[in-house]
Amino acid sequence: MGRVYNFSSGPATLPLTVLEKVQAELVDWGGSGMSVMEMSHRGDDFVGIAERAEATLRRILDVPDTYRVLFLQGGATAQFAMVPMNLMRGGSADFIDTGIWSQKAMTEAARYGRVRLAAGGPDYATRVPAAGSIEIDPAASYLHYTPNETIGGVEFPYIPDSGDVPLVADMSSTLLSRPLDVSRFGLIYAGAQKNVGPSGLTLVIVHEDLLGDPLPGTPTVFDYRVYAENASMYNTPPTFAWYVAGEVFAWIEAEGGLPAIGERNRRKAAKLYAALDGTEFYRTAVAQDSRSWMNVTFTLAETALDTEFLRGADAAGLKSLKGHRSVGGMRASLYNAMPEAGVDALVDYMKEFERIRG
Ligand code: PMP
Repeated sequence: MGRVYNFSSGPATLPLTVLEKVQAELVDWGGSGMSVMEMSHRGDDFVGIAERAEATLRRILDVPDTYRVLFLQGGATAQFAMVPMNLMRGGSADFIDTGIWSQKAMTEAARYGRVRLAAGGPDYATRVPAAGSIEIDPAASYLHYTPNETIGGVEFPYIPDSGDVPLVADMSSTLLSRPLDVSRFGLIYAGAQKNVGPSGLTLVIVHEDLLGDPLPGTPTVFDYRVYAENASMYNTPPTFAWYVAGEVFAWIEAEGGLPAIGERNRRKAAKLYAALDGTEFYRTAVAQDSRSWMNVTFTLAETALDTEFLRGADAAGLKSLKGHRSVGGMRASLYNAMPEAGVDALVDYMKEFERIRG
């Protein structure tokens, strides 16, 4: 039936059982006689779908009651602006810069106040700063960082200690990859199209104390409080993506929850990094302690072979391994729905390619 191993960084592979359930329910959800995408977001059926999705997410991620879960649109990119619009009350915010997504968040935030570098910078595209090197301005409105840089494949092995300054994290490519202590954060956001579901949906998990005092002139649709007070239905939400996300959350729970998912992800990444470390033919620039579980970046020592490597992989059903256009090389994204067999197939292909071309 033609399914491939899809290593895309996002939109990305989804669990087959979820896709099949969505397919089975596509034209008649739960005997309603209509598709979820045809339902009023204010009707009982969709409200039930939405509430169950949130409840399942809260269970699997163990979200404390003091946090609100918001289902928004605009992607993580909209959050680059929405976070400062809502939280930059003191006129300045601190940032840790570990790559392209950190920098995009900083550039956008600079439109709303002062952006100060607390750690990281140009030398940190392949490693995260040491925990002790983060210098936080106690007057900062918040500290923002990118726990997993999707393009560089650089991931924090620790949660920065921001003291009394609220910690804000762009978790687009790492949320739900393993258990997480949500209580360490003021606000977490993520575009859905990696571990959560289809694109078009953006998750925000925010401590309720941070709601309610946006900068003057903030449009209503960018005010977190408005979503919190209206169960994320101030206007029409991305209903179909929300429904599919709910099915993905249920799948995670059925797989044994985030402890089981996290253990599988750890094994998958370890297998691929071990293959990279065992040869000079492939290389990864990322420091040992900063290696992403979700986005494994590597190059061929002989870059002239890149095209042939990618063409052969594609023919073998190993799709979307080309690195981001800004950095080149290869990137294998190993999100939750990538089975271990997919990593095995990739490692086998890499070994065979090296045998022929090495
Ligand atoms: N932040 C990170 C870490 C990302 O990986 C991405 C998308 N790949 C974005 C932000 C931008 O997300 P979106 O396209 O949903 O706006």
